[in-house]
Amino acid sequence: MSTTTVGVLRETAGRERRVAMTPDGVTRLRRTGVRVLVETGAGRHAWFDDPDYAAAGAEIGARAQVYEESDVLLVVRPPDDVAALPAGRVLIGLLDPLGDPALTETLAAQGVTAISLDLLPRTLSRAQPMDALTSQANVAGYKAALLAAEAYGGFFPMLVTAAGTARPAQVLVLGAGVAGLQAIATARRLGALVTGYDVRVQAQADIASTGAAVLSLDASQNGDDGYAQAMDADEAAVQLRALTQAVPRFDVVITTAKVPGGRSPLLVSEDALRAMRAGSVVLDLGGGNVAGSAPDTRTVTEHGVTVIGAPNLAATVPVAASTSYARNIVALVSSLMPEGRLPSENDDEVLAAVLICRDGVVVHPRLRDHEKEIR
Ligand code: NAD
Repeated sequence: MSTTTVGVLRETAGRERRVAMTPDGVTRLRRTGVRVLVETGAGRHAWFDDPDYAAAGAEIGARAQVYEESDVLLVVRPPDDVAALPAGRVLIGLLDPLGDPALTETLAAQGVTAISLDLLPRTLSRAQPMDALTSQANVAGYKAALLAAEAYGGFFPMLVTAAGTARPAQVLVLGAGVAGLQAIATARRLGALVTGYDVRVQAQADIASTGAAVLSLDASQNGDDGYAQAMDADEAAVQLRALTQAVPRFDVVITTAKVPGGRSPLLVSEDALRAMRAGSVVLDLGGGNVAGSAPDTRTVTEHGVTVIGAPNLAATVPVAASTSYARNIVALVSSLMPEGRLPSENDDEVLAAVLICRDGVVVHPRLRDHEKEIR
C-alpha cells in the first residue's frame, strides 16, 4: 500500500491568519506513518515558516502540487478554490455545513469526501481532544476581553494611586458557552467587576463557578443537549426588553450568544446602545447580537458608544489558535484515520458525526434532510 500524503493548504479567507497544521503538529503526524506536504507560505501569517515545516519532516510545494499529490487536505476554513479539489480527496476543516449547505453539495458533486469539525459530538470524552470549536472559542473569548479592554477609555481594575482611586470597569458578558466563560475569566484576571448572563440554566451555574455575578432574567431554558434553542418572536422580545434595561448599567458588554445552525439572537438593542454612557464599549463576538454591528468593523455611535463587530477573533491570535487547532487535527487523524486512511465503513460514532459527504454522496443525516427540503 502506498504511503498516504496529508496536504496542508494556505488559508484563502480574508483576514484569516491561522494555518491548519503547525511544525509541531507535522512531527506528530509523521509518527502516524504519513507523508506531509505543506503549501509554500501556508503558515507565514502565524509565524510558522517553510523551513520550520521542513525541519519537522514536511515537504513544501506549490498549491497545485498539494492538490494533486495529497490524499487528505487540511484547512481551517473552506478554501475559495474548492473547484480545484480532485475527486477522491478527503477534505478536513471547520466547513460550517449547517451555515453553508451549498458547500457540501459542491464538494459532493466533485466526488470529494469531507469531514467537518463543527459537527463533532463534543460531550464524548473520546472526541474532546479533537474539539476545534472549543479550542477556537477559547482563543476568541480571551481576545474579546483584551480587545474590549483596549477600546475602553478607563481601567479594568480598581487602581489606588496617590492621585486617587479609579473604579473598576463593570463588564457584562452575554452568552456563557466556551467563548463567554473565557471572556469572563480573562476580564476577571484584568481586574474588572464581571457579570455574566446566559439563557441556559446550566450556563448560569457555570458563570457562578467562575466567581462572576450572574444576571438573572425571566427567560431561561433547560435544554438537555447543552445548546440553546432558538426563541420564538415573543420570547425574544421579552428577553430583549429585559436586557435593554440591564445593559446600560455596564461600561463594557461582550456578546457571544449563538444558536447552532440558526441566527445569532439580538441581545443589545438600539435603545440599549442609546442609553449607555458615552465611552462604553460593546463587542459582538456572536455576530448579530448587537444592533448595527458589522463584522470586522469598529464604529462609534452618535452617543459615544464604541461598537466592535468581531465574529472571527480566533484568526487574530494565530499562533495559539493554530497550535490548538493542529492538535485537534492530529487527534482526529490518529483516532479516525489509521495510517491516514478512512475505514471502509462509517460506523464509528465520531466519524459518522463529522463526515458530511463521502465519495460524492452527502451522508450526514442533517444535511440530507436539508437537501430534501431544497428539492
Ligand atoms: P454556542 O457557541 O453555541 O453559544 C454560545 C452561548 O450562547 C451558549 O452558552 C448559549 O446558551 C448562549 N445563547 C444562545 N442564545 C442565547 C440567548 N438568546 N440569550 C443568552 N444566551 C444565549 O455554545 P458553545 O460555546 O459552543 O457551547 C455549547 C454547549 O456545549 C455548552 O453547553 C457547553 O458547555 C458544551 N460544551 C461541552 C464540551 C464538553 O463536554 N467537552 C465542550 C465544549 C462545549
